[in-house]
Amino acid sequence: MDKKTIYTAIKPTGILTLGGYIGVAQNLKDMVKEYNAYICIADLHALTINPDPQVLRENSYKLLALYLALGIDTNKCTLYLQSQVPEHAEINWILSNFTMFGEATRMTQFKDHQAKSKEVNMGLLNYPILMAGDILLYDTDIVPVGIDQKQHVELCRNIAIRFNHKMGDTFKVPDVMIRKEGYKICGLSDPTKKMSKSERGDTGTIFVEDSKEDIIKKVKRAVTDSENEIKYDPENKPGVSNLLTIYACLKNIDVSSVAAQFEGQNYGTLKTEVANAIIETLEPLQKKYYKYLEDKDYLDEILAKGKLKAQAKARETLAKVYNTVGLIPAK
Ligand code: AMP
Repeated sequence: MDKKTIYTAIKPTGILTLGGYIGVAQNLKDMVKEYNAYICIADLHALTINPDPQVLRENSYKLLALYLALGIDTNKCTLYLQSQVPEHAEINWILSNFTMFGEATRMTQFKDHQAKSKEVNMGLLNYPILMAGDILLYDTDIVPVGIDQKQHVELCRNIAIRFNHKMGDTFKVPDVMIRKEGYKICGLSDPTKKMSKSERGDTGTIFVEDSKEDIIKKVKRAVTDSENEIKYDPENKPGVSNLLTIYACLKNIDVSSVAAQFEGQNYGTLKTEVANAIIETLEPLQKKYYKYLEDKDYLDEILAKGKLKAQAKARETLAKVYNTVGLIPAK
């Protein structure tokens, strides 16, 4: 039987957080073995925040080095940089004509940006349509994401269904995949909110580049509650539950067993064990990561190989779509 296709992307807007690592990156190595995997460095998506160009380039290489450090076998998957496959930008225009203004403005992430910032560019509104194109270009069956991206995958499904209905069967309609635990790792200083990259400098976010000392410091400061009872109860004990989830995901144990393991112990012990689990995960990863990062020629070679593989499929899909909507291919 043919392998199913998965599509996954991370934005090089900063250094990946422990949330992104647990939400998606941790399982990628195994997914590459099981699925036909497209793994993308979503640099076009990163443009919505108008990053410094040099920093964006460096972050793209960093993300590539991280993917490699995770042990992803690039001979068994398609690992590529989004902007090197222009079909992503091209399909975006086509799909925007099959997306309702109302549904795009209803996206929670867009509304959050709108509420927080005076400057809301069109890229932010367009972001989920670009993401829909990413997924649909590769006949994707499954999209593994954290909970924050679930709504965007649902929009992608709606766009594909609408397009197929109006124009005839063209796109495969993908399913979302969200891990059972760890789909929303929360910040350590505010365990009711997603751990996010934008809080650099904030002690609530752990980055995959963080030193051992920083990890210990950040976990020690993690907000818990005034009791001293270790229990998995996200509603009433979000801080403790978040720490238990982090530990469970990193150790590959279900969270109820972890809660049982720590029952009767104090918060200090839990924090020490969580910090150790993070360090044990990130230290070996960082060693490989910095080694890959030193060799830009090798990284460029990987990108060149990925571009060829991704573009072959993306071109095929785009040609089909152009034909379906009535565009004339150049002779
Ligand atoms: P991003 O770095 O925002 O491009 O996210 C990369 C992937 O990690 C996406 O699939 C997100 O849904 C996922 N992700 C990001 N932050 C978290 C988090 N705090 N908990 C779980 N998953 C996350």
